[in-house]
Amino acid sequence: MSNDPVLSVKNLRVRYGLFEAVFDVSLDVGAGEAICLLGSNGAGKTTSLRAILGALPMAGGRIRFLGEDTTGLPAVAMTRRGMIYVPEGRELFPTMTVQENLELGAVTPEARLRMKDSLAFACELFPILAERFGQLAGTLSGGQQQMVAIGRGLMGLPKLLMLDEPSLGLAPVIVEQVYAALGRIIRTGATVVLVEQHVQHALELCQRGYVLEGGRVVQQRSTVELASDDSLRQAYMGVD
Ligand code: ATP
Repeated sequence: MSNDPVLSVKNLRVRYGLFEAVFDVSLDVGAGEAICLLGSNGAGKTTSLRAILGALPMAGGRIRFLGEDTTGLPAVAMTRRGMIYVPEGRELFPTMTVQENLELGAVTPEARLRMKDSLAFACELFPILAERFGQLAGTLSGGQQQMVAIGRGLMGLPKLLMLDEPSLGLAPVIVEQVYAALGRIIRTGATVVLVEQHVQHALELCQRGYVLEGGRVVQQRSTVELASDDSLRQAYMGVD
């Protein structure tokens, strides 16, 4: 990992009212590194991502992104700096076409200048998108919508791509397609934070993983070590 991480989170805390959903989450992501956040439902993974993005207020902690202290900046400012979040549930505009949804991801002047190349890359990763360019996003299957959501994220020329449960609710064959594309994105040198319930996929894709429990990080190790940890396999992968 490089000495100056792309993202550095120190002692993040997030509250919903009086409930402290996240406390003491610290993590680093180096340039070109892919890390995953693992943990059961309610462990605080989505809350952490949304707070890092600036979409939820932080109750404590510091965020550094690309060498700058970005603590407290709103999501729009983080997105313009290249922190791109692909949300759980995709959040497409259902009455807009695939092409319009994709183009909305080009949020900076540079991204708009490079829109043609980015569209071509998204369609190379997911050829079905080119066939459905004019179709309303709301009429696509769940898997196709996920492909649009990832493609829209790429349109923003991410310096950090944060993916929240990209395989949620998808058929196994589609999950394989999505993960093959994520592997290609990572091989282009992308820096990635992945939240995923499909632990096996996350461990195969990423170099390091953080395990969250009850709102805090309880383990941070290489994915090779995590994959051979029997207690983790029992807890999250249903393996005895
Ligand atoms: P999941 O995989 O279910 O999304 P997660 O690890 O991403 O799990 P979070 O969604 O971050 O977990 O939730 C962390 C905790 O915060 C949980 O106890 C959850 O019930 C609570 N929580 C999440 N969103 C809200 C909210 N809007 N208001 C109040 N509590 C919330």
